Amino acid sequence: MSELPPLREVINTYDLRAKKSFGQNFLLDLNLTRKIARIPGDLSESIVYEVGPGPGGLTRALLMEGAKRVFAAEMDERCLPALSDVSAAFDDRLTVQLGDALEIDEPTLLRLEPSSDARIVANLPYNVGTLLFIKWLTLDSWKPWYKSLTLMFQQEVAERIVASPGTKAYGRLSVLAQWRGRARIAMKVPAAAFTPPPKVASAIVHFEPSEPLDMDVELGDLEKVVEKAFGQRRKMLRASLKGLDVSPTDLLERAELEPTQRAENVSVAQFVNLAKCYRKLKSTN
Ligand code: SAM
Repeated sequence: MSELPPLREVINTYDLRAKKSFGQNFLLDLNLTRKIARIPGDLSESIVYEVGPGPGGLTRALLMEGAKRVFAAEMDERCLPALSDVSAAFDDRLTVQLGDALEIDEPTLLRLEPSSDARIVANLPYNVGTLLFIKWLTLDSWKPWYKSLTLMFQQEVAERIVASPGTKAYGRLSVLAQWRGRARIAMKVPAAAFTPPPKVASAIVHFEPSEPLDMDVELGDLEKVVEKAFGQRRKMLRASLKGLDVSPTDLLERAELEPTQRAENVSVAQFVNLAKCYRKLKSTN
């Protein structure tokens, strides 16, 4: 990186005042963004997908840390001139697509090949972050096209993602994430690190997909039983599973779970087994 001006100057030059409608809270401290960019490890062979680069603080950091290429999707067209300066400063290793990340087919945008080492790194608006995380966890083909996700969340959501059974934070997001891989909180980020500061603290989750816990379970079945079980998390399973189209008593018996147990105390492996038993029971009905 040669002559890029400080981010505050970029924001003034291009009049990039943060807009609430785009969920904009910018990271302007390059030491912090470089630390984030180092979380996934060596990026020299990686194609990085960044959602919501904004004025480009994290984008610069990813390029400075040696990312082979960065593809970014940004919804706010006001940011494009600033990002084009970043691209020029880094030998065009950055490509920016204007659009809504929720609608993007990433393998096409990133021009991925089977051998590509693709990483997702992003400081996202909170609402979009959870939707995208779920989208990336529920891809039909598994292993997925990416090797890791490094994503900023509200701290409370980050804690839900990594929560263990038996805790208050354990829920749908924990089961889904821990079924599909390994998640950890890689860094806590105080509200004061952002411009403007959000109301709550944030944390970065690093997630790496793993082999499926069990090849035979169907995502739709797992989502269904988990949704019902946690829909009324204070109730015992024999009551909370009533909304399913099978008898909760038969299902729990087959899955070897106590009818008086609550969702909070069911492990990820037990949920996977429950989903399999649900499918079997339905097919015999
Ligand atoms: N990455 C920058 C940083 O760390 O300073 C900006 C972070 S800001 C929290 C989120 C960025 O995501 C904004 O630039 C916003 O315009 C963009 N954004 C919001 N919703 C989006 C969406 N659905 N698709 C793509 N970008 C989006």
